[in-house]
Amino acid sequence: MPRPGELVFEAPARGRPPRHLLDLDPAARREAVAALGVPAYRADQVSRHWLGRLSNDPAEWTDLPAEQRSMIAEALLPPLLTPVRAIDCDAGTTVKTVWRLHDGALVESVLMRYPGRVTMCISSQAGCGMNCPFCATGQAGLTRNLSAAEIAEQVVAGARALARGEIAGGPGRVSNVVFMGMGEPLANYSTVVSALRRIVEPAPSGLGISARGVTVSTVGLVPRMRQLADEGLPVTLAVSLHAPDDALRDTLVPINTRYKVAEVLDAAWGYADRTHRRVSIEYALIKDINDQAWRADLLADLLVGRLVHVNLIPLNPTPGSKWTASTPEDERAFVRTLERRGVPVTVRDTRGREIDGACGQLAATSA
Ligand code: SAH
Repeated sequence: MPRPGELVFEAPARGRPPRHLLDLDPAARREAVAALGVPAYRADQVSRHWLGRLSNDPAEWTDLPAEQRSMIAEALLPPLLTPVRAIDCDAGTTVKTVWRLHDGALVESVLMRYPGRVTMCISSQAGCGMNCPFCATGQAGLTRNLSAAEIAEQVVAGARALARGEIAGGPGRVSNVVFMGMGEPLANYSTVVSALRRIVEPAPSGLGISARGVTVSTVGLVPRMRQLADEGLPVTLAVSLHAPDDALRDTLVPINTRYKVAEVLDAAWGYADRTHRRVSIEYALIKDINDQAWRADLLADLLVGRLVHVNLIPLNPTPGSKWTASTPEDERAFVRTLERRGVPVTVRDTRGREIDGACGQLAATSA
């Protein structure tokens, strides 16, 4: 593992990441393998090694002739994610990894092990173009979209480390994936949908992680929310609301000037109707900005009676931010208002804070 002092940020060149097995569905993999002059069914065998057994060592793929293994590995399994560094906390059960991509762009993923589940928080873009003023990733702007394989390989890397017993707590599996790292997933829509298929479809197509354990978080790109409802992917949709009124939300989530609170929530209820999945409403509590009792009441007015769950996130102040988290009293009052109105609510834990691996803290370029 490189030492922090060795970290070099190279300006990313244009150009697509090299093609990878996980950019392709099983039929396209067979075609790609056949084009190498190797029997098409070898694609399924390699896929089972990569995604089922999580083996990245061709020497272990003994059901294929050695020269076919290396031909396929060279053509379809280029290294996409190079670890720059990994930092852990919580006695090794929270691990943040900074990855360098082929063009020098940096992204981060976080693995969080809890009793009975492991959640991976992954990135869908290098940087982000949504410009939310309280979010560390938003400050640096968008570098580029990730490819489907660059997204899915973050999960594969975590799954492999867990399977090999490299994470504190012994061998395990990834049960949950949240698109809450860097980037706005619905701004990289078709690629994120491909990555979702690689994550939820069983081997040899994908990793076989239950769609019920996967959450896509969005600022509220309304047309894409409606499109996602029709993909037949029963993943959880999380909406980063952060304010119940347009006047404030226009400033906290600038895309609100295009898609208003009412439209975003209408698309969220459409998603719930279509998928029967409870929509998650993300709300970062910011002291004296969005944590007033009247805003809690207004939020309850919007959500009461809906298939919804509110996730309150104590703000993680970004460096130089003028904002701080709400006081414990204001947080409790906010929770009580929602509870009294019958709106399900929890306060999210702030795992990974000390390693800048917590919600909204991922900003690889400032590492
Ligand atoms: N672009 C997606 C994913 C972003 S990160 C989205 O906006 O939903 C996931 C969550 O972390 C979002 O709800 C985001 O608003 C929140 N977040 C960002 N910065 C934060 C901060 N400093 N403190 C608390 N939550 C933050």
